[in-house]
Amino acid sequence: MQHKTVIEPFRIKSVEPISMSTETVRSECLKEAHYNPFLLRSDNVIIDFMTDSGTSAMSARQWAGVMEGDEAYAGSRSWERMENEVRELTGMRSILPTHQGRAAERIIYGHLGGKEKVFISNTHFDTTRANIEYSGAAAIDIPIKEGLYTALQHPFKGNMDVAALDQLLKEHKGHVGAVILTVTNNSGGGQPVSMANAEGVAAICKRHGVLFLLDCCRIAENSWFIKHREEDMEGLSYREIAQRMFTLADGAVMSAKKDALVNMGGFLALKDEALAEACINLLIITEGFATYGGLSGRDMEALAIGLQEIFEPHYLDYRIKSTLFLGKKLHEMGVPLMLPIGGHAVYVDAKKLYPHIPPEQYPGQALVCELYELAGIRTVEIGSVMFGTYNADGSLKPAPMELVRLAIPRRVYTQSHIEYVIETFAEIMKRREKVRGLRIEKEPRSLRHFTAHFERLER
Ligand SMILES: *Cc1c(COP(=O)(O)O)cnc(C)c1O
Repeated sequence: MQHKTVIEPFRIKSVEPISMSTETVRSECLKEAHYNPFLLRSDNVIIDFMTDSGTSAMSARQWAGVMEGDEAYAGSRSWERMENEVRELTGMRSILPTHQGRAAERIIYGHLGGKEKVFISNTHFDTTRANIEYSGAAAIDIPIKEGLYTALQHPFKGNMDVAALDQLLKEHKGHVGAVILTVTNNSGGGQPVSMANAEGVAAICKRHGVLFLLDCCRIAENSWFIKHREEDMEGLSYREIAQRMFTLADGAVMSAKKDALVNMGGFLALKDEALAEACINLLIITEGFATYGGLSGRDMEALAIGLQEIFEPHYLDYRIKSTLFLGKKLHEMGVPLMLPIGGHAVYVDAKKLYPHIPPEQYPGQALVCELYELAGIRTVEIGSVMFGTYNADGSLKPAPMELVRLAIPRRVYTQSHIEYVIETFAEIMKRREKVRGLRIEKEPRSLRHFTAHFERLER
């Protein structure tokens, strides 16, 4: 018999209780957190969809690996396992362990960046942009145009605009730090990038002699989309698809807190040995010796195992299809979404959900607050709070989209948790006209979404 039901391809061996709360308590918590979900205590959250980063449930095999971790300062067995695993996957020789993605970013972009340099990406993730700009360089996003229309269907909305890339590389000749392809495109809606696009980008980079890096946090999930949506790819395994993409690039940055199914970890992989040597020197200054880079032996052991599990076909199928299930249900209810549904998250288009709230009043943040107050669901705004800037006259220069991300932790929530979220959205839809926007009361200079304080506006 052919089953339609996609089941979680695992049994639960260990559980973590969720502390339940009432709406009244949550209203109080939200006020105390200045309407910023990053300032909430996780004990006051019921379903945590804030991020899929570092929130995965590890497998019994990974936990067994934790016990096997070799904590030697130099040349640990666990490092060898991790290095071999990453080498085999990426085909790159020089592997630098880091405590998470942004540490790898700071090292490579700090080294390649500086004033008058530019970096070009389909979309820079927020920490990527911050590290580049902190070095004095500029970060330019060139997603394909289709990627900016939330309702438009396109199989690879995460693609980079290759014509724009060619143009920019001519314009900025001699000043390009690197071209970065983010797979899947997290900030652009969790949308996949096709192999053809990666090949196009690689060819242009080669022609212009610039460095091509993959931000490969979700390359396994991206491989699922390639296998099922791109011509001539169904014959390859998910892992082979990822490997083929790695052959195109000169290097890769990975936050292992995503697809590698660990709570902490990351790496930088490079083909060029001189570049790797410069980066290793920086690694040793701030992260740790080259054979642990800020990770414990047990972390590296779990990471090596996670990188194998992520390509397991039943796991990946469940992962993508369960995200799709949530998206499909919300779509059927008329919730405006980023379409098609991406791999790790469902993105709600808050601009369309709350057309009466202008970008200056942060419609995405308003939805984030609603979801928390109504149901204890924690999500994150990816719109003008995260990416808005100010014009010279002090007015807000809004982000291109006002999204709210429901990021699904890997192997953590079951079908009934998802049903609870769907039920909450029915209520969100009913009260959409009554919702008010917010104003920022206090904000830091960069990455303001993490710590800003908000106030709700009166009607
Ligand atoms: C999470 C993420 C990063 C940064 O990694 P951290 O582990 O959070 O430091 C970089 N790029 C992308 C696409 C990400 O999703």
